Amino acid sequence: MNTKNYINICVLGGGFSGLYTALHLSKHPLVKSGQWKITLVERNDNFLFTPLLYELITGELQRWEIAPTYQKLLAGTSIKFCQETVERFDLKNRTITLKNNTSLNYDYLVLGLGTRNYWADIPGLRKYALTFRNLSDLETLQAKVCHLESLDKKHLRVAIIGGGPNGVELSCKLADRLGNQGEVLLIDRGNQILKGLSKGIRKAAYRALGSRRVQLYLNTNVQEIEEDFITINHGEQTISVPVDMVVWVAGTQSRSLIKSLNCQQSQSGKLLVHRSLQLIDYPEVFALGDLAQITSKNKPLPGTAQVAYQQASCASKNIAAMIENKPLKSFRYLHLGDMLTLGRRTAIISSYGVSISGQLGGILRRLAYIFRLPTMRHRLQVLRNLTQKVGLKVRRFLRSIITSLLGQKSSRKYSK
Ligand SMILES: Cc1cc2nc3c(=O)[nH]c(=O)nc-3n(C[C@H](O)[C@H](O)[C@H](O)COP(=O)(O)OP(=O)(O)OC[C@H]3O[C@@H](n4cnc5c(N)ncnc54)[C@H](O)[C@@H]3O)c2cc1C
Repeated sequence: MNTKNYINICVLGGGFSGLYTALHLSKHPLVKSGQWKITLVERNDNFLFTPLLYELITGELQRWEIAPTYQKLLAGTSIKFCQETVERFDLKNRTITLKNNTSLNYDYLVLGLGTRNYWADIPGLRKYALTFRNLSDLETLQAKVCHLESLDKKHLRVAIIGGGPNGVELSCKLADRLGNQGEVLLIDRGNQILKGLSKGIRKAAYRALGSRRVQLYLNTNVQEIEEDFITINHGEQTISVPVDMVVWVAGTQSRSLIKSLNCQQSQSGKLLVHRSLQLIDYPEVFALGDLAQITSKNKPLPGTAQVAYQQASCASKNIAAMIENKPLKSFRYLHLGDMLTLGRRTAIISSYGVSISGQLGGILRRLAYIFRLPTMRHRLQVLRNLTQKVGLKVRRFLRSIITSLLGQKSSRKYSK
């Protein structure tokens, strides 16, 4: 006999889809009164605001700003945080098995476990290439860069494979970080970078890469990676280039845990969902973010934080509607625009036909992202830190003007 007198909502994954769904739901009065209980299962103890991960390479932001702990984010909410790895699901019996061999039952489930790195079949790739998707990747990359910088070599060469947003943003930031000491190669097998983004963004990106002397290798396949060189096929030529570091940012794929689920999936292993974000055949399960496939205007939506963020709001409303026997809403994606960082303190933002680049773009992008951080308290802390930094810079700037003006005055006095 079921003696449970509350509804159990289990959210798997504390990324853009899972964490934001849980936070939206936590504001519902029936969650506050304890009649609905939310458990968030996530293996890491820090959330990661991925779009700002590049800023840690150049020290423009600090780790706490983009990777607050869940403990901090969830304080004051009634969301129960369970730091564990999900090992298996049983959709029929509504149970989840965790790595510590405990299991959880649910009435409603949110799947927000994201995707994982795609590894192409290139000799040496897994052994020698770094990746750039999470905090531990960042730490490895930072350690490698610091080590290379400490060698006092005159020339450092870094190869980045993958000309999507990740590769372009990383190339610009690394080129700025390494300065004159470094040379960045950006390699892609296609004939252009940033496929799918607007012409304006692409033009700004080419300009930013050019001004940082990033060497673009388009229509180029990577044949092999060794510890200190990379072999590429470019047209008829096969070239081996000495490199100090290789970073692989050429795509993602579904997690095997998701692929093994007994439900309808796309060819690439993404979960197929109704427009309400409910899993086909399992209406009590909502799947969103990078692991789900949903189409808009006959095209599958991209795996972006922007999509996941909007889906989280829709999923939380639909879960509440379903429990309260109200009609569910269809998810409608509104593309607000694209933003890319193109080096230290510089970015391009493009929204509804208007593009702003350079330092102003950098400030607007930073502000837009601050307002997307998970909680109001965290937003305010990051904003306060930013205004303090800006205030300090403005004060220093004014002081330098005043000093130089006073200097001119006194030197005029003496020259009389
Ligand atoms: C460096 C980088 C920069 C990006 N920049 C942008 C950008 O500028 N704009 C944009 O729109 N998108 C950007 N993206 C894409 C964006 O991060 C993703 O689309 C978004 O995070 C997807 O959200 P999600 O919730 O589906 O998955 P995620 O945010 O990846 O969250 C999945 C969560 O599930 C957890 N998890 C996974 N498996 C398990 C398990 N077995 N047990 C427990 N927990 C598990 C993970 O630890 C993770 O916290 C960027 C991605 C990267 C890597």
